Amino acid sequence: MKIAILTSGGDSAGMNAVVRSVVKTGILKGCEMWVVREGYEGLVRGNKEYRQATGTDSPPLTNESSQIPPVGATGSTLNIVNSLRFGDGDLLRDGTGDYLGGRTLKGRYIVRVGWDDVRGWFAEGGTLIGTARSKAFRTHEGRLAAAHNLVKEGIDALVICGGDGSLTGADVFRAEWPKLIEELRSQSKITDAQASAHAHLKIVGLVGSIDNDMSMTDMTIGAPTALHRICEAIDNINSTAFSHSRAFVLEVMGRHCGWLALLAGVAGGADFIFIPEQPPKGKPWEDEMCEAIQHHREIGKRKTIVIVAEGAIDIELNPIKADYVKDVLTERLGLDTRVTTLGHTQRGGRPCAWDRILPTLQGVDAVSALLESTPETPSYMIGVRENKITRVPLMEAVEMTRAVAQAVSDKDFDKAMSLRDPEFAESLDGFTATASLTKVPNLPEGQRIRIALMHMGAPAGGMNAATRAAVRYCLRQGHTPLAIQNGFRGLLDDNVIELSWLGVDSWMARGGSELGTNRTLPSVDLGAVAAKFQQWNFQALMIIGGFEAFNGLLILEDGRKHYPAFHIPMVHLPATISNNVPMTEYSLGSDTSLNALVDACDAIKQSASASRNRVFVVETQGGRCGYIATMGALATGACLVYTPETGTTLDMLRRDVKFLKTRYNLDVKGKSEGRLVIRNEVSSSVYTTEVLTNMFKEEGGSLFDARSASLGHTLQGGIPSPMDRQRAVRLSLKCMAFIERHHALLQQQPAKTRHATGESAAVITIQASSIEWVPVQEMLHHADMVNRRGKHAWWSNIKELVEALAGKPALR
Ligand code: ATP
Repeated sequence: MKIAILTSGGDSAGMNAVVRSVVKTGILKGCEMWVVREGYEGLVRGNKEYRQATGTDSPPLTNESSQIPPVGATGSTLNIVNSLRFGDGDLLRDGTGDYLGGRTLKGRYIVRVGWDDVRGWFAEGGTLIGTARSKAFRTHEGRLAAAHNLVKEGIDALVICGGDGSLTGADVFRAEWPKLIEELRSQSKITDAQASAHAHLKIVGLVGSIDNDMSMTDMTIGAPTALHRICEAIDNINSTAFSHSRAFVLEVMGRHCGWLALLAGVAGGADFIFIPEQPPKGKPWEDEMCEAIQHHREIGKRKTIVIVAEGAIDIELNPIKADYVKDVLTERLGLDTRVTTLGHTQRGGRPCAWDRILPTLQGVDAVSALLESTPETPSYMIGVRENKITRVPLMEAVEMTRAVAQAVSDKDFDKAMSLRDPEFAESLDGFTATASLTKVPNLPEGQRIRIALMHMGAPAGGMNAATRAAVRYCLRQGHTPLAIQNGFRGLLDDNVIELSWLGVDSWMARGGSELGTNRTLPSVDLGAVAAKFQQWNFQALMIIGGFEAFNGLLILEDGRKHYPAFHIPMVHLPATISNNVPMTEYSLGSDTSLNALVDACDAIKQSASASRNRVFVVETQGGRCGYIATMGALATGACLVYTPETGTTLDMLRRDVKFLKTRYNLDVKGKSEGRLVIRNEVSSSVYTTEVLTNMFKEEGGSLFDARSASLGHTLQGGIPSPMDRQRAVRLSLKCMAFIERHHALLQQQPAKTRHATGESAAVITIQASSIEWVPVQEMLHHADMVNRRGKHAWWSNIKELVEALAGKPALR
């Protein structure tokens, strides 16, 4: 199959990762890969200008002479290596974008690309193949020219990465395709043979949009990076707002979708937000906002942050503008208020880890979707639900997205909310629950609970955010949030304090553990722990932590046989950079850690390429779980990864050295290249980082040098990532709801003989596309207690993908 990829509409971080992934996957599957520059405009223009300028009808590419045998033809792994010969480097960054791998592209918009043409594209923001909004493509003549250009190059499969407009354009194009072909044939622009060979157009869409405005997918490519940029700005503004006791009104992007404003509100700990889907109802919004902020100021808050989406409106659809919000705050509350409009800073910059991983996995699936597609199958959009890559009919998603805008313009805001993904509504609930304090608690005296909160194990990004959310939820409801400081050891020393609404205000952006954390298990003295539960009258417990926390909960549940004090609802919210808690695909802190790794590796890679060919062996933490190493390798484009799960053998090393030599031999001479190898610190006790580095150095000879870098505790990250913050809030509130539910059930039993069921001691997990509660005893069946990880790792096949995308021949 000949597949072309284009990026269209507004640019977004992660588009380059899509192109890289699609191009490499396509080559691996034996396809011929092309890129279309400047979106649909490039499709319409084709290579005519080049032909006219040069008189060459079929312009050869510099390296085109080295033929690529399709991988599928023989199944030989050598073919993959051969295909590396095609393309000889990155897009030359000369400011024109008119060169690719040393080849001039002037006047050429549909360009065949090879493996190495997309090297290093991960770390680049925006889209290197250009994007545009094409008026011509909206016309029949434009699409006819586009079809002609594709047929001329023999292409009949398209991958489109763009927003809902671009995907609609793709669908229109596909539906019209048979007619376009017939028209071209009847005008004798194409032959009968060409017409029958190109009877159908296959398309697949990926959503590249910073607004996260597409229905039927949790996340669009570029939205996480935009949220990073916004949160960085809010974190910076927070400190100056605090110093001067000021109010700041931040305008963020989102003309029709309030996702960025909402998530920035949640992750940035804002006081008030305005989004198009849910304008303040009930009273004039000015009153509602001023009352909430006045209340916060009365409690003692020194700073105020209000976030306004670009397309924010009131219930009468009148725009709400940042300057007007500022005037209201200044005039009514007398606050020293400033406006900051983040504008295009939100679009740009290096993609965050998630905007490298998600597009890579989606790109792989996009190629599979094309290869599986038939004239009867619908065009798919590749999406994601929680942690699962999904395929949904493209037009269904587009229509649902349009329906949101329609519902908003019909003032049917409840419908607009219901058409957004469940995560959107949950995030709004999360914002409401954590942003403001009600004057009177929601629950009557008899339903209020004393909830103990504890951190356990190593610190992880998001632990404090989860605690903040729990505390604020508790106070709204009327529960008492009791922080156990320094884990079970602290409990035995009576280090228990009641947390306040204001006391946790700045915890959202704080790394580490504000409560203090250690690895002491309750088995240190279970009887004494039970006595402390009784003494403090804990009616529920939430433990935030990693494998220890799971183990701790297991011990407490087991202790119910002997100690009535443990017959209370108890939950574990997984938080560990190692992401080694069984059954859950995600733990708080793992995203922060991946971002720390990506930042470090981008810098290392730059250094590795700067002087001479150099392989960097980067050592990561992660205990006996290879998650961080593997996903980090996927996010940084590392070429090899070593994990405890697969171990390291001499045979493996021999193959890896051979692969590195082959790879460096294929590189363009005179241009130095850096390559990353990621190694989990305990993947082998014999083949250590030092041994590996020395071996690569020795074997590399004059081809390449080797160095090592150990990332150590830097991987715990400083400031938690927005993803960890928002998931912390969402999962923490689910934990609170779980506690309330099980507490109510227990209250139905007589106090003296109260017996908690196994279900009431559970771990909150993310499994593929859903959030599941798993009783801790059931978790035990899925845990490898010796190696402190789950028995099954959902990411186990990612190592193969990492190495395949680096061009390493797979073992067959
Ligand atoms: P963003 O979310 O950044 O606005 P988008 O993909 O929605 O991205 P649009 O400007 O709506 O951006 O669409 C991009 C391009 O897709 C248009 O310039 C046009 O070429 C094409 N396109 C959009 N809608 C159609 C349509 N109905 N028919 C044909 N082409 C279309």
